[in-house]
Amino acid sequence: MSADTARAPQPKRRETCPGCGAPGPRSFHRVESAPVHSCLLMASAAQAASYPTGGIDLAFCASCGFISNLIFDPAAQEYSPQYEETQHFSPLFNAFAEDLARRLIERFDVRGRTILEVGCGKGEFLDVLCRLGGNRGVGIDPGARPERFSAEALERFTLVRDWFARGFRPIPHDVFVCRHTLEHAGETREFVSAVREYVGARPDALVFFEVPDTGRVLREQAFWDVYYEHCSYFTPGSLARLFRSCGFEILELELDFAGQYILLMARPAPGPTAPRFPLEDDLAQTRREVELFEREFPGQAAAWRRRVRAFAGDGLRPVVWGGGSKCVAFFTALGIGREIEYVVDVNPHKQGKYLPGTGHEVVAPAFLESYRPRVVLLMNAVYREEVSRMLRSLGIDAELVAV
Ligand SMILES: [Zn+2]
Repeated sequence: MSADTARAPQPKRRETCPGCGAPGPRSFHRVESAPVHSCLLMASAAQAASYPTGGIDLAFCASCGFISNLIFDPAAQEYSPQYEETQHFSPLFNAFAEDLARRLIERFDVRGRTILEVGCGKGEFLDVLCRLGGNRGVGIDPGARPERFSAEALERFTLVRDWFARGFRPIPHDVFVCRHTLEHAGETREFVSAVREYVGARPDALVFFEVPDTGRVLREQAFWDVYYEHCSYFTPGSLARLFRSCGFEILELELDFAGQYILLMARPAPGPTAPRFPLEDDLAQTRREVELFEREFPGQAAAWRRRVRAFAGDGLRPVVWGGGSKCVAFFTALGIGREIEYVVDVNPHKQGKYLPGTGHEVVAPAFLESYRPRVVLLMNAVYREEVSRMLRSLGIDAELVAV
């Protein structure tokens, strides 16, 4: 990290849980200095190296099981159309999104309805949901990119660059969708109660949320899944407790995408509701898993650091596959520099740009034909088959190591 790195002023450590308000969440994991964004790619290595950083102080609330960064500063965030979070250049991810859309359409009869998707990213899921279910929709996101869709698709939905917050202008809708957004909100209780107020008391209204599952992160000590943009970390239980306490009945609660994501379908209720899914009863388990993460993280990080250095030392030219937040967090936590020279990503909008913090260049898969890496570190094991096939088609004989 260069000496002139801009550091966001460290906010005062929060003393209460943003999920339930209970005092004294217990800190169990700290990252001194992480780029405040990891999906916002930079035009030059110098710009990447001087990107603002902030601290992470991850704490566990014994009352509701919610985990959050108590020194998160929302003012440090700049979501814009330059933000490249999309995973939709992966066929596997597209298959997951299509399958999910089909299931929502089938199980909850989401046909001929109006969808409002808050935090819709580039809008791909809304597109699928409208196309497959004959629905119409509005997508809200500061990073929305309507120009990436055909005029035909944009007859079914519109995309608006905006933020959702309490008092948001009324947009008529039957289904409120919010995927991979709540984990970016520091004030989770404020966000979910604002959604409850916005949706109103209509008994037929549907509310669908999707967030990463932190239980897996804790069990696997997946420290690369802890980054600044994610200030809020849920398990099925803590997510359900938040929704129930904000006046939602939960219709469905499950894990998907190889157990990495929590899916929750809810509808408004007159007041708080009582738990009824076995998956919600995870408070004691989460406490144990937090302790496990705390105990195992230093050894896990040291082992990866040794491994990456050995790959580089043996002249194997290791590269990372997947230039997203996981990669930035992995590099940041381990202090990876030139041991790894390049990061590969299938998203053409990322190629030729640089990762915030460490300044690694993102290259297209075809670049590997000349670079000839002998080791490819895969940031998400779920893509193993897909990446393995691509490497074979490029004629690359490299060991694929899933992080
Ligand atoms: Zn709490």
